[in-house]
Amino acid sequence: MLTVDELIELEVLITEEIEKLRERSEESAEEREAISPDVSIGRLSRLDAMQIQEIAKEGERRRQERLPRLEHALDLIDMGEYGICERCKEWIPFARLKEQPETLLCAGCA
Ligand SMILES: [Zn+2]
Repeated sequence: MLTVDELIELEVLITEEIEKLRERSEESAEEREAISPDVSIGRLSRLDAMQIQEIAKEGERRRQERLPRLEHALDLIDMGEYGICERCKEWIPFARLKEQPETLLCAGCA
């Protein structure tokens, strides 16, 4: 079972993680934008730019997947249901939650 202190620590961790993901989303917005074909930057730089764009898009995709899970974790904290494995209804150990605060399953069920 989680102590109140542990729960607060996790809530702070999740809130910070959400902020970080949102910031990174904004920062990488420019990198994700389509490279205009009429800007002459040379063929190799264009390939570089496309690669950077792909990486930025992949990062964004992962962030957009993770954000709702983290927000859901905050909802669960509010409802007092956070930290309980969805499958076996056992407590998920604090160490696992710290590592992966959005997890809904214990290590055994994951
Ligand atoms: Zn479980």
